[in-house]
Amino acid sequence: MLRIEQLTKKFGSNTAVDAATIEVDRPMMIGIIGRSGAGKSTLLRMLNRLTDHTSGSVTFEGRDVTALRGADKRAWQADCAMIFQQFNLVPRMDVVSNVLHGTLNRRSTLATMFNLFPTEDIHRAIDILDRLGIADHAPKRAEALSGGQQQRVAIARALMQDPKIILADEPIASLDPMNAQIVMDALRRIHEEDGRTVIANLHTLDTARRYCDRVIGMLHGRIVFDGRPEQLTTGA
Ligand code: ADP
Ligand code: ADP
Repeated sequence: MLRIEQLTKKFGSNTAVDAATIEVDRPMMIGIIGRSGAGKSTLLRMLNRLTDHTSGSVTFEGRDVTALRGADKRAWQADCAMIFQQFNLVPRMDVVSNVLHGTLNRRSTLATMFNLFPTEDIHRAIDILDRLGIADHAPKRAEALSGGQQQRVAIARALMQDPKIILADEPIASLDPMNAQIVMDALRRIHEEDGRTVIANLHTLDTARRYCDRVIGMLHGRIVFDGRPEQLTTGA
């Protein structure tokens, strides 16, 4: 399904990701753990093509996605929708419009300029928000919501693109424990019920252990562990 081979990113003389090789042969929930600076974020950003790789390859369903341009690249970016630590919503825009922004790729410039959304897309957005337990907030400005609610809006925006993979870059790092649990439960459910792969950068092993089928450990840009969470024991 997804095959990452010898994927490398250098920033000058600093190798942020060093020959990462990962094979995902079926839908999984994967946690990437490692200290700040280990290369987790850069790895996800290369997958989603937010950052250009230096060498190596990423193949999805037999196609090299690192070579895609234009509409093909945008289609891939919808297939592996990304969510971020800081949610990256438009704060003053209402929740449902934020979610509909996930469909911008395939809408005309005019529709974008006038914020015109097809009715069926609006219904779909509301259904997705409902599934995440936040449909009641649909008309509110994003900035009026709590962090946990905002992250669920960001998940809804990702789901609007019907992605095969959800890339989550420190999705709970800004949240209190209760909201962190709600967001991780939502991601787990999306994996289990929809069969989507979730790849989440997490900074604690505990979270990875609790929610993920597979844990990848990174240190100084290299993958130093790849296996089931129960194979890892904490030293302290
Ligand atoms: P993590 O997500 O594990 O905290 P990052 O992928 O953000 O790690 O960073 C990996 C390494 O790459 C770090 O040394 C970081 O300073 C460096 N790095 C990340 N982004 C950039 C960038 N845009 N320019 C230069 N160096 C970068
Ligand atoms: P995180 O580790 O949580 O991903 P960082 O604070 O490392 O976040 O990075 C925040 C932003 O700064 C990212 O866009 C990253 O690419 C960029 N960045 C990180 N390290 C460097 C660096 N050494 N030089 C330039 N940009 C960097």
